[in-house]
Amino acid sequence: MADESTPLKYKRILLKISGESFCRDRQGGISMTEITRVAEDIRDVVNQGAELAIVCGGGNILRGKQFSDGSNAIKTATAHYMGMTATVINGLALQDALEHIGVPTRLQSAIRMDSVAEPFIRRRCIRHLEKGRVVILAGGTGSPFVTTDTAAALRARELEANVVMKATKVDGVYSDDPQKNPHAIRYDRISFQDVLAQRLQVMDAQAFHHCMEHNIPILVFDFQKSGNIAKAAHGEAVGTLVADADDLND
Ligand code: UDP
Repeated sequence: MADESTPLKYKRILLKISGESFCRDRQGGISMTEITRVAEDIRDVVNQGAELAIVCGGGNILRGKQFSDGSNAIKTATAHYMGMTATVINGLALQDALEHIGVPTRLQSAIRMDSVAEPFIRRRCIRHLEKGRVVILAGGTGSPFVTTDTAAALRARELEANVVMKATKVDGVYSDDPQKNPHAIRYDRISFQDVLAQRLQVMDAQAFHHCMEHNIPILVFDFQKSGNIAKAAHGEAVGTLVADADDLND
């Protein structure tokens, strides 16, 4: 566990958890074992004073692009709304997993779903964060044709988060696909500009450009290693930090 005596590098964190974190490897669906493990990591970092807003993905259940080949009756926009609804299912599961271990939460949805979630209201969300509640942001942006990466980037700006943490199954950003190229190197830190120049994949393009334009650092790290979220919050070397070239030189 990260040293609790060191100050947090990032006080307000926008954590993007992709759908794959909600299930066992390549299995899809929901595994409460996996979710509980993530929840325990979240509890540790919240107990250390971090404010956490979490954007849930939905890919373990459904992604809109699965239906985008035009060969079936489901319209692309409808498929994306189905994907957004999937993120609400994940949000509900994460909420119960967190509350079960004593972490106060609120679920806010970008799509109105009044019986299970508050609507997303920026000022209310910030108030919850200030009170030490974890706010789970479901429903993506509420609009089709984008992904929850974009929701994470937009919400990070709205909520004035200090960082977007992208929890994935790889331990950072590589020069090439490490599964295919054994010589691929992992960056500890890399600038937004170099990511573009080298055409590296960090988040989807729209989300990446939003973070770059508004100078919101992105930390890509492996969520499967217990304690990584807290380490990252304390600025320990975990994963890859993507930021403005000037900030990386400090
Ligand atoms: N989605 C959308 N608008 C949003 C966010 C998500 O239409 O603002 C849909 C989109 O179809 C996406 C799906 O919801 O594929 C699930 O989200 P995502 O693919 O980002 O999940 P992840 O890959 O993070 O598990």
